[in-house]
Amino acid sequence: VLATHNKHKCQEFRAMLDGKYDIISLNDIGLYDDIPETGTTFRENALLKAQYVRNWVLAKTGDTVDVMADDSGLEVFALGGRPGVYSARYAGEGCSPRDCIDKLLCELKGKSDRSARFVTLLAVLRGDKTDYYEGEVRGTIIDELRGDGGFGYDPVFVPEGESKTFSELGNEFKNTISHRANAVKEMLK
Ligand code: IMP
Repeated sequence: VLATHNKHKCQEFRAMLDGKYDIISLNDIGLYDDIPETGTTFRENALLKAQYVRNWVLAKTGDTVDVMADDSGLEVFALGGRPGVYSARYAGEGCSPRDCIDKLLCELKGKSDRSARFVTLLAVLRGDKTDYYEGEVRGTIIDELRGDGGFGYDPVFVPEGESKTFSELGNEFKNTISHRANAVKEMLK
């Protein structure tokens, strides 16, 4: 079971793990709860999500399922690593992705260092084992939104070695170099 309500993440994992694992989403099992992310690190939050889902399924069915949870976010170096674990709600509870981007671009105004990285921490519960895998992709935050694809901060993130944003590059390419792709590669190893 993949512990996310984010349909974009689900699509990305399904594409990357195609033929290797059958991914069951939270929608598939009817878990619609807002899973608390009260940790202060990606690792803590990934574990919280994975354990929540495992406990929920156990209480409902008596079965112990394998669970994979990802916690991810954007770290901007000139901002001391913000938004980090608060990436999804950077502009406040209930804010839109566009609000978060606007806040970020405002904070970066006039700064010459626009380097950043996306980070993913995967927590995988298999039987009685818990494993963690990390992935990152480095890049730059541009000062305008470009492209329609992807989600979150994709329209302003240009990965190293490219001139287009993740939104412009499209999912097929993103899934070969992204932070999630790199964490998945670690897991498959
Ligand atoms: P999470 O669902 O708690 O892991 O929060 C992840 C948040 O980080 C998302 O809501 C996005 O704002 C941001 N984020 C994570 N991965 C990506 C990505 O691949 N592209 C753009 N934004 C991302």
